Amino acid sequence: MTPAKPTPADRADVIVVGGGIGGLSSAFALARKGLRVRVLERAKEFGEVGAGIQLAPNCTRILDEYGLLDEARSLGVLPENMVMRDALDARELTRLDLADLERRYGYPYMVIHRSDLHALFLRACRRAGVDLLTDRKVVGYDNTATGARVRLEDGSAEEAPLVIAADGLHSVARRALIGDHVVSSRYVAYRAAVPIDQVRENGVAEKDVVVYVGPRCHFVQYPLRGGEMFNQVAVFESPAADSGAEKWGGPEELDAAFEGMCDTVRKGIPLMWRDRWWQMLDRDPVDTWVHGRIALLGDAAHPPLQYMAQGAIMAIEDGWVLAEHLGASGGGAAAAAPDWDAALAAYEAVRVEHCRRVQTTARAWGELWHLDGVPRQQRNAIMRARDTHDYGFTDWVYGPTALTPEEEPAMFTPIPLDSAPGEPA
Ligand SMILES: Cc1cc2nc3c(=O)[nH]c(=O)nc-3n(C[C@H](O)[C@H](O)[C@H](O)COP(=O)(O)OP(=O)(O)OC[C@H]3O[C@@H](n4cnc5c(N)ncnc54)[C@H](O)[C@@H]3O)c2cc1C
Repeated sequence: MTPAKPTPADRADVIVVGGGIGGLSSAFALARKGLRVRVLERAKEFGEVGAGIQLAPNCTRILDEYGLLDEARSLGVLPENMVMRDALDARELTRLDLADLERRYGYPYMVIHRSDLHALFLRACRRAGVDLLTDRKVVGYDNTATGARVRLEDGSAEEAPLVIAADGLHSVARRALIGDHVVSSRYVAYRAAVPIDQVRENGVAEKDVVVYVGPRCHFVQYPLRGGEMFNQVAVFESPAADSGAEKWGGPEELDAAFEGMCDTVRKGIPLMWRDRWWQMLDRDPVDTWVHGRIALLGDAAHPPLQYMAQGAIMAIEDGWVLAEHLGASGGGAAAAAPDWDAALAAYEAVRVEHCRRVQTTARAWGELWHLDGVPRQQRNAIMRARDTHDYGFTDWVYGPTALTPEEEPAMFTPIPLDSAPGEPA
């Protein structure tokens, strides 16, 4: 266990509850602005469960600003293409040329092991002097006259001018402040990260991110750790989702879900980890993330279905936006105290709407990916007709993170007819 109660002398400016990717990246962003930050994590050690994670240019741009992009690059892989295929017949439906995408947005598309990304932020926090405390489970939140207070399971309490709740999908803060429920998509995800040798004979594309979309299922593959490892995610609709069983989506359902799929997909299924799986849950978007001096961030504020691969990225963006506004309002090395309320209002004004779009678009993509019968064929025809260099679907997400609602790009930016492929519109 990390040291017990802090003395008033080490009072933090900001308490961050939760040491996941959202909590640590935000703590680092705030510490960069000169704020004294304390992270309270309930687990005995900092860490991440799971396999790979995709980082689009709207995230690698922030990593670059933080001075962390080279380190991330050395740990991850820059794939060549992102390819979507039909899971039944393996035919290509559409692709993004990721070298061209990097030219357009100025920053790369990267895939990286989750634990490597998490460890990178943990090291950055340590270097920046963030106070990192484990074995601290927060059970309650209150606003006070000068800020906010968190109550811990051990009976102690901590107070700061600002408390950020980055405590994930099942956030205690969200339950206390909003009181809504998670929404089940009836889908479940299995993951695996295996040595590349184990998949070489399966017809995999070692340098691409490939998404196979099929009836009520999809399968994702990409390389990790310089290409030495290979990441796989298998997602399917559980026939037992409405059975009332708590652990629906068990391994006995996995093989059946992918039975009729193409060779490469079927060959990948036996490699999936079978001792754990993730039920795909999200929440309906809400308008209010800031309650006095308590702010929700990351999955606590906007847990998405993972189909746009933006959940962790949105959390990283949240921290960057909040830190920029706090820095601009007097935070940082500046002598004046930040204008906490103005910064929180600015954070909420821009992030809520962007994240709502991602959450609702992710739900729609899930429906599109999992079509069967005639709708599947119609989807395939539309996707095949897409020009590889049409960025109308990605500009609003992969472009620079907006600091104000005015900077937020339109949902589908039209591409001027006279712009050559690869040139910014
Ligand atoms: C299959 C799958 C694939 C995904 N792929 C991608 C992808 O490619 N790209 C992407 O950007 N996103 C992806 N995501 C989404 C991403 O994983 C999440 O959005 C992201 O990890 C959320 O980070 P967070 O820090 O907000 O929450 P979490 O990671 O849940 O962290 C919350 C932290 O808070 C701690 N905590 C919880 N309660 C308390 C408490 N009461 N007191 C103290 N500490 C507490 C927890 O222990 C944990 O450390 C994917 C998700 C899934 C399921």
